[in-house]
Amino acid sequence: MEMRHQIEEKLRKLKMPGALQALETRLSEARENEMGHLEFLSLLLADELSHRDASGLAKRLKAAGFAGEKTFEGFDFRFNQEALPPAFLRDLASCHFLEQKQSVVIGGPPGIGKSHIAKAIGHEACRRGYEVLFTTTQKLLSQCLTASPERSQRLLRHAVRVPLLILDDFAFRKVDAREAELLYVLADERIGKASTVLTSNRPPEDWYATFPDPVVGGAILDRMVSAAIKLITTKGRSYRKEVLGLRERNRAKPADKGS
Ligand code: ADP
Ligand code: MG
Repeated sequence: MEMRHQIEEKLRKLKMPGALQALETRLSEARENEMGHLEFLSLLLADELSHRDASGLAKRLKAAGFAGEKTFEGFDFRFNQEALPPAFLRDLASCHFLEQKQSVVIGGPPGIGKSHIAKAIGHEACRRGYEVLFTTTQKLLSQCLTASPERSQRLLRHAVRVPLLILDDFAFRKVDAREAELLYVLADERIGKASTVLTSNRPPEDWYATFPDPVVGGAILDRMVSAAIKLITTKGRSYRKEVLGLRERNRAKPADKGS
């Protein structure tokens, strides 16, 4: 029994819940069938693997809340290669910044692929086993401020602790004092501990004006932006307009001809 408890403790430390759950059943099977050590070990490891597969990626993707799947496989790296250098993006896709607990700021005009890139980074992080939360800044703030106190606390705690927080459309509009306070909590709690990815249509120097109090705004931006990896561009073609818009127009053509 002593040995069994030690093994359970070790499985817990090794973060092997699948093996831990299956241990008892596999032990009795082994006893009943006079199973060899190798077969027993192989079955227990297979239990762990299937547990990880089943509960892993799909669960993390769902929990992340990416509305619509956007990946780097579905990203045309050449389309905006001057404004968004492919090597830079591939480096972000490697999730190295996550290990370093660095943050990332992606800024540039609408339609160039900022949200797509942010979601694709999140997808890569999920594939590597990280928990991710993707949300627009506005949505997170209003959820935190309008939900019941318990739900709001839970949401904020999750946003503070999640290894990768993606705040899409940061500094989209002016925030009020309560919203600024929430952003300060996020920035202060996460700095150096977990990575945050921010996307914005405005350059970071314009973000100060979106805070009611310049001191609080400065403190937030100092924590969120100063040491972040920055991909800020004022150029870039709108994929939304040029490619998706063109496809829309082409779809509409047959009807145009007929009239
Ligand atoms: P932004 O956040 O910069 O306003 P989005 O990321 O929302 O732009 O991009 C607009 C649309 O164009 C989305 O449907 C996105 O998937 C698509 N898109 C943008 N850039 C690319 C690209 N290089 N390759 C494939 N799809 C792209
Ligand atoms: Mg966007």
